[in-house]
Amino acid sequence: MDVRTFWLAGRPATGDSELTVTNPHDGREVGRHSVPTDAQVEEAIAAAHAVADQAAALPVHVRAEALAHVSRRIEERADEIARLITAENGKPIFWARGEVTRAVATFRFAAEETRRWSGEAQRLDTEPAAAGRLAYVSRVPYGPVLAITPFNFPLNLVAHKVAPAIAVGAPVIVKPAPATPLSSLLLGELLAETDLPAGMFSVLPVPNERAAGLVQDARLPVVSFTGSAPVGYAIADQVPRKHVTLELGGNAAAVVLADADLDWAAQRIALYSNYQGGQSCIAVQRVIVEQPVHDAFVERLVPAVEGLVTGDPADEKTQVGPLVSEAAAERVEQWVNEAVAAGAEVLAGGIREGTSYTPTVLAGVPHDAKVAREEVFGPVMILQPAASVDDAYAMVNDSKYGLQAGVFTRSLDAAFLANRELKVGGVVVGDVPSYRADQMPYGGVKDSGIGREGLRSAMTDYTYEKVMVLTGL
Ligand code: NAD
Repeated sequence: MDVRTFWLAGRPATGDSELTVTNPHDGREVGRHSVPTDAQVEEAIAAAHAVADQAAALPVHVRAEALAHVSRRIEERADEIARLITAENGKPIFWARGEVTRAVATFRFAAEETRRWSGEAQRLDTEPAAAGRLAYVSRVPYGPVLAITPFNFPLNLVAHKVAPAIAVGAPVIVKPAPATPLSSLLLGELLAETDLPAGMFSVLPVPNERAAGLVQDARLPVVSFTGSAPVGYAIADQVPRKHVTLELGGNAAAVVLADADLDWAAQRIALYSNYQGGQSCIAVQRVIVEQPVHDAFVERLVPAVEGLVTGDPADEKTQVGPLVSEAAAERVEQWVNEAVAAGAEVLAGGIREGTSYTPTVLAGVPHDAKVAREEVFGPVMILQPAASVDDAYAMVNDSKYGLQAGVFTRSLDAAFLANRELKVGGVVVGDVPSYRADQMPYGGVKDSGIGREGLRSAMTDYTYEKVMVLTGL
């Protein structure tokens, strides 16, 4: 099997060692890639630094065309890329195709947004002392962006950092997750087809223990991290002077109020607690149901969960595939077993087979159990009855995390109350918390992170406002 090269300052390169990527479903080798040496990492950083001013001055039509090209090429190679994502990540091909479609849109939105990315004029003569003065306010990139990405969306979450960086004219170095580097290496291939200057992008699949050099280097002033909270905050602590964006984990809640469409809610919650084996930062983990409809909802939910199609992720019909590794599946098993030992009841699932875990519904989970407090990142949901709407919203907020929440209701009052009360970065009314459109602001509060992604929000995060004052007008 060929060894994939990595991307060093826009060119394919090989280092002096290789790593193998395996399929979480059957353990088979998916591919091998070359690993950059420390000297090559230094070369990539120096190139990004050297090209930063040229990148910031790159004409908008060049940036927009590069982004549009990548969007078109992902679309043209969609089937191949989706199969690669499924092979290295284990997510069912149905979801992998969805991720590819989203990445096409992410690059397309960035191409559109860069064309709209202009400064603004601000009149200063609101006060007599500033008569005749005008400010021109523009946004300037801080400089090269270090993009550290997780395994669960190995293409689109890389796109969410690379596309806005190019859109604002910032060089970007991607450090992908060790389990799933191949999709980002393929993305490097498409970026290399563009007219972007050499040095504007690198994709460096270095092991975690060698990533500190990238994180701490002052020539990369922006660190955009998506991953788990402990790793994210440990990285932020290392670099107090950098501009850090943290897109972290959660234990998202879906609230089902008494006026909800219970069939719709059950179907959506069943699917979005388990999609990608529950390995999404906004997968439904806590299901909070208003007391009067609790039993009727559970009667619908359990068969919906049991009806999900599990199995080989390469099969077009599969809805729930394996977890990323056997260790991940064992951890989920252990957390469920701990909850059961403490009194929880298993209403569905609860069985591990290798890297797979069956879609699971738990009731009566003690308040301090890990499956209630921490991020499960597996196909497990817990049911929690609520006495009232206020009680339900207080339960959503009873978490150290705050990424997104979903509220199933037909009441506008309940929707606005949710928007006011819930301590999260996003409230989804009428659907699961797992809903995300790629152009919308996305990110969390509390331990779910700092800063926002979504094209325009990330472009704002990678830049600072610069004011030019014009005198004598
Ligand atoms: P992780 O924290 O283990 O790893 C994330 C990235 O950090 C990987 O590239 C990893 O190699 C790297 N990394 C790990 N240790 C490092 C170190 N010491 N120095 C530098 N880099 C290091 O997360 P994961 O298991 O890949 O992904 C799952 C997590 O990501 C979950 O917590 C999930 O909620 C979160 N996530 C958040 C979002 C979001 O947008 N908020 C989206 C997807 C996933």
